[in-house]
Amino acid sequence: MKAFRRFTVRVQLPANLQPLTELAANLRWSWHRPTQDLFAEIDPEVWAAHGDPQRVLDETTPERLTELSDDADFSTRVAAAANDLAEYRSATAWYGELAARQPVPASIAYFSMEFGITEVLPIYSGGLGILAGDHLKAASDLGLPLIGIGLFYRSGYFRQSLTADGWQIENYPINDPRALPLTPLCDGDDPVLITVSMPGGRRLTARVLVARVGRISLLLLDSDLPENDAELRGVTDRLYGGDQDHRIKQEILLGVGGVRAVREYTRITGTPAPEVFHMNEGHAGFLGLERIRELVTDAQLSFTQAEAAVRASTVFTTHTPVPAGIDRFPMTMVRHYFDADESGSSRLLPDLPVDVICELGDEAAPDIFNMAHLGLRLGQRANGVSKLHGEVSREMFGDLWPGFDTTEVPIGSITNGVHGDTWRSPHWPQDGTLSDAEIWAIRSELRDSLVAEVRRRTYASGRARGHSDAELAWTREVFDSRVLTIGFARRAATYKRLTLMLRDPERLRRLLTDPHRPIQLVVAGKAHPADDGGKSLIQQIVRFTDDPALRGRIVFLPDYDIGMARHIYAGCDVWLNNPVRPMEACGTSGMKSALNGGLNLSILDGWWDEMADGHNGWAIPSADEIGDEHRRDDIEATALYELLENTVVPLYYSSASGQLRTLDDDAIPAGWVDMVRHTIDELAPQVLAERMVREYTTELYSPAAQSFRDACVNDYALARDLADYRDRLALAWPSVAVTGIDEDLPPHSSGVVAPGSRVGLTAHVALGGLDAGEVAVQAVGGTVDAAGEIVDPIVTTLSATGATDSSGRALFTGGLDVARSGRIGYTVRVLPNHRGLAVTSEAGLVRYP
Ligand SMILES: *Cc1c(COP(=O)(O)O)cnc(C)c1O
Repeated sequence: MKAFRRFTVRVQLPANLQPLTELAANLRWSWHRPTQDLFAEIDPEVWAAHGDPQRVLDETTPERLTELSDDADFSTRVAAAANDLAEYRSATAWYGELAARQPVPASIAYFSMEFGITEVLPIYSGGLGILAGDHLKAASDLGLPLIGIGLFYRSGYFRQSLTADGWQIENYPINDPRALPLTPLCDGDDPVLITVSMPGGRRLTARVLVARVGRISLLLLDSDLPENDAELRGVTDRLYGGDQDHRIKQEILLGVGGVRAVREYTRITGTPAPEVFHMNEGHAGFLGLERIRELVTDAQLSFTQAEAAVRASTVFTTHTPVPAGIDRFPMTMVRHYFDADESGSSRLLPDLPVDVICELGDEAAPDIFNMAHLGLRLGQRANGVSKLHGEVSREMFGDLWPGFDTTEVPIGSITNGVHGDTWRSPHWPQDGTLSDAEIWAIRSELRDSLVAEVRRRTYASGRARGHSDAELAWTREVFDSRVLTIGFARRAATYKRLTLMLRDPERLRRLLTDPHRPIQLVVAGKAHPADDGGKSLIQQIVRFTDDPALRGRIVFLPDYDIGMARHIYAGCDVWLNNPVRPMEACGTSGMKSALNGGLNLSILDGWWDEMADGHNGWAIPSADEIGDEHRRDDIEATALYELLENTVVPLYYSSASGQLRTLDDDAIPAGWVDMVRHTIDELAPQVLAERMVREYTTELYSPAAQSFRDACVNDYALARDLADYRDRLALAWPSVAVTGIDEDLPPHSSGVVAPGSRVGLTAHVALGGLDAGEVAVQAVGGTVDAAGEIVDPIVTTLSATGATDSSGRALFTGGLDVARSGRIGYTVRVLPNHRGLAVTSEAGLVRYP
C-alpha cells in the first residue's frame, strides 16, 4: 500500500557533531571528497546505497552517533570539514580579484529549466541540466555572486529499467522536499509565496525552496501547494512530461515567477539586485517580459524604453542546432495566457500589449511563437555552446538579421565545460608529474573499478529483467580489467546514432571476440518516455548484448545517471561519440572522459571539432556532404571500424618498443600512455567549467552589466534615447539609401591598381531626416568569388564630411586599402549607429546601393 503522508524523524546530533547538519545541507559535499568520506564512515551501507548525506543522518541510530561523538579523531575531522566549508564560502576567489581590477556585475541571475547537481536532487534529465549544475559549481568556486533559478519537480526525471525483452520502462521517483537539502524561503516566519495570474482570474501560487550550492543559492519554485487547484498544483509535477499547455505554464512560472522570486530573495537577504539575467536556453525567455513589465509599471518607461534596458542586461544561450529542438508554442496559446481578455491588474503582465509580446516570438511559420527568437530579441548578447555551434546558430537564426552575411550575425560562442572536482576521479593526484608506470597504474585501477561496477549493475539489471540468481552466474565474470574498454553513453536521440556501431554486426563481433586483442564496450542511455523510436534503438543494442557469445564483452547498463556516469567516464580508455555532424551543439561527456585520461574517438562535432589535436584522441571522418543518410551511416561506420582495427586497438596493445602485445602481456603501452598524458596536460584544462564561467564573466556578464548601468543612469536616459532613436529610425529607414559612390582611382589606371594602394571613396547618402552621426557608413571590400560575393570582407568606416552634394545627400569619405593583388570588389553600406547598440548589426537594418 502507498503511504498517505510522509514525514521524517530526525535525531538530535551530539554537540560536537552538529556541523554535520550544515555539511549535509550545503550541496558542496557533492564535489568535496573529504566531506563525502565523513558521511560514508557514519554509515557505509546507507552511503553506498544512496550517496546522500541527509539520508545518512536520518537513518543513523543514536547509538552510532554516540559512538562517533566519542571518537576524537572523527569529531576533529568533522570540525575540519566545517571549517573548510566556511573558508571556502568566504574566500575572495577569482571574482573578487577581478572586481578589484575592473567593473563586474553586482550579481547575476541564472535561469534554467533543469539543474543537475547530484543524483540526490533529480531535477534534470541530461546534458543541459548537468551543464547548468556545473555552471553553478564553477561559479561558486570562482566566487561569482550568482543566483540560480529553476523549478522543483515533485517527480524526478524517470529511472530506467528494462523488460526481459529489452524494452525501456520508466519509473518516476518522488522528490520529498523535506527529505532533501532544501529550505523554504521565508520572510520572518512566513514562507514567501509567489503568484502569477492565469486566465479566467485564477492565480498560480508557488513557494521558493532554496538549495545551497557552495556559496550560491539556487531558488526552486514549487507549485504543489493547497493554495492551488489540482491542475495548478501539477504545474511543477515533472520535467518534460506534459503537453504544450503544461509546458507553457512551467515556463511562465520559471520566467515570470522566477523574476519575482529573485526580487523577494534579494530583498529579504539584502543581496544586490542582479545586473545580468542569463537565460540558459529559450525555456527561460519569459523572464525578459516580466522585467519589461517591472520597468513599465515601476519606472513608468514605455515598452521600448524598458525593452532597451532589459536587452542591455540579458544574456541568451542557445543549446540546440536542431530546429525541431527549439521550444515553440501556438500563438493562440501565448495570447491565451498573456491576454486572456481580462481587464487590468488580473492579467499576467498588465501594461504589456499582447500584440507586442507576440511579435517578440514571431518566426517565419505563421502563428507560431518561438522561444529562441524571444531570447534573441530580448538578449543583447547571445551565444552558442561551441565554436562550430556558434557558426551553425548564426546560420540558423540568420533570418533575424536580414541583409547581413552569416559571419555578422551577432551570436558568438562560449564552449561548454565540465566541473573538475565533480568529474575527475579522486584516483588522480591533484598535482605533480606522473611517470608512465604511474599513469598506467591509475588508468588500470579506474578500469578495474569500472569492471566491478559493470558486474554489479549487469547482475542487478538481470534480476530486474526476471532472471534468477543461478542464471546470472555469468555476470560475475563479465568484462576483463585488462581489455581495451570503450564507452558510449548518451540519450537515445536519433542524431546521436546509438546503433551506428551495429551497422556491420559481424565486424563488431570480431572486434569484441578477438582472442588476443579484444575490445569491450559499455553502453548506456535513456530514451524520452514518448520516443518509441529511441526505445527501439535501445532494444536493438540490448538484444545484441544478450547474445551469450558476446555478453562478456558488451553490456547495456540501464538508468544512465550522474552516479553511474562518473564510473563510466573514469573507467573507459576510449570515449566514443558518433553524432550526425553538426547536430551535437557541444557534448560534454567526452570532456568528462578526457579529465580522466580517456581518449576521445569522435566525429568532429561540437567541442571536439575545435579541440581535437591529433594526439588527444581520434577524429572519425564524417561524410557531411552525403545527403542519403543510409549511405552516410555506412561510410561513417566503416571509418569507425577501420580506426578501431588499424589504429586504436594496435596502439593499446603495443609495448614500449612498439611490438604488439597480447592480453596476457602486461607491458606498458607507451604510445597510449603518451596520449593519455598529453590529454591530461593539454586538453583537460581547456574543458573545465571554470574556463567556461570565466569566459561568460569577461565576455558577456561584465559587458552586459556595463551596458545595463549605462542604460539606467540618469533616470534611464540612454534607454529612453535609444527607444526614441529606434522610433525615428523606423520612420526614416525607408528613405535611407546609398545614392552614389565616387572612386578616386589613380589617373589612367583603367580599373587596375597596384597592391598596397588606397582607393579613395566618397559615398552619397540619403539620410531620411537622420543626422549624419546617427548612421554608420562603411566600405566593405575584399576578394570576390565567381558569383560576385565578397568572400573575406574587410570593413572600414567612412567619415561624414559635413558637406552635401547638389541633391542634398550627405557625403562620407574614406579609403579602401588594397593589400593584395587579385579580383577585389567592394560595396558601401549604411547602418544604424547609436551608443546603446553593442554591434552595428544588432538592429538588423542595413542599406546597400
Ligand atoms: C555529461 C552528461 C550528459 C551529457 O553528455 P553528452 O555528451 O552531452 O551527451 C548526459 N547525462 C549525464 C548523466 C551526464 O553526466
